[in-house]
Amino acid sequence: SRAKYCKFFTECKSKAVYRIPHSNLALCKDHFIANVDKRVQKLILKSHIIHRERKNKILIALSGGKDSQVLLSIMKKLYPDNIELHGLYIELGISENNYSKDSGIIARSLCDKLEIPFHKIDVKEKNGFNIDDIHNLKQVIKKQKQKPLDDRIRGECSYCGLIKRHYINKFAVDNGFSVVLTGHNLTDEATSLVNNFFNVDIGFLKKPGYFLESKTKNLISRLKPLFYINEEEIAMYAYLDNIEHLPTECPYSAQASNIKIKKTLLEIEQYRRGNMISLLRRYYKVMQPEIEKANSSEKHLDRICVECGSPTFSKICNFCKTTEKMLETLKKHKIQVDG
Ligand code: SF4
Ligand code: ZN
Ligand code: ZN
Repeated sequence: SRAKYCKFFTECKSKAVYRIPHSNLALCKDHFIANVDKRVQKLILKSHIIHRERKNKILIALSGGKDSQVLLSIMKKLYPDNIELHGLYIELGISENNYSKDSGIIARSLCDKLEIPFHKIDVKEKNGFNIDDIHNLKQVIKKQKQKPLDDRIRGECSYCGLIKRHYINKFAVDNGFSVVLTGHNLTDEATSLVNNFFNVDIGFLKKPGYFLESKTKNLISRLKPLFYINEEEIAMYAYLDNIEHLPTECPYSAQASNIKIKKTLLEIEQYRRGNMISLLRRYYKVMQPEIEKANSSEKHLDRICVECGSPTFSKICNFCKTTEKMLETLKKHKIQVDG
């Protein structure tokens, strides 16, 4: 049965444009947008990232995709002037379909429109190599029918994640931000949770859900305000609210191991409405705290990397070690690196 009219209480007589997947509530454009805004605000309030008594300097990690563009737009709407909001774009050097170039242009354009300071970090400049270089290295190794030099040569995404996390954190620490917001959505979070289950990856399974509150020096707290908003809702929001974003996906995303799990979860969602949201809610309420408790005796990041200042278990952090190895390997295979 298709609802024709908005079911926001009873007073709204506007035409319904979208049905909230987990609650089956049909809403008009304005009430749909308000519904998402409210759910985002709820997580922000619950995590207490905004303080009355001090200056709030908040960094949003931008990719040019719909998630971070919608997040930026919602944050500016919710907090028009009582927080200092900045956008940070990491230029990863992914040239296929002009992916990185176009992403950066779109991210900057929304920042300009909303009068939010825009920052950009070029990974090749800072790091010597970018994601395309890693891709090329893999191709060269394949062509030479060599075995990867060691099992540390993994997919583009695993380096990309490490590089992004490092530069976002470093920028936030160096510039006095109190928290970083990222655009991770419900669909992606449910997918990676199931993936972590399949891998029985305790390291990931014990991590908290939408808010990672840092108690460590040089490590910034991270919040995912779109944690309970699914991909379809974000796409609908971007469409209805006219938020510009890059419609294409990163060319390397197709090979991510997660993609089939995501497809399966979306199929389950067809006959179990709200499956993803209840999975995340129950997991983080019931299971994660138990897993965290049972695995809390582990080492802490109580040292500072001698090379970059990031928190680490040992003298040199994982990012610096990995980067150094990668530079060596790239040079060995005659792939042009900076520095
Ligand atoms: Fe990076 Fe992978 Fe995301 Fe592309 S899909 S931006 S390589 S993490
Ligand atoms: Zn309405
Ligand atoms: Zn380091």
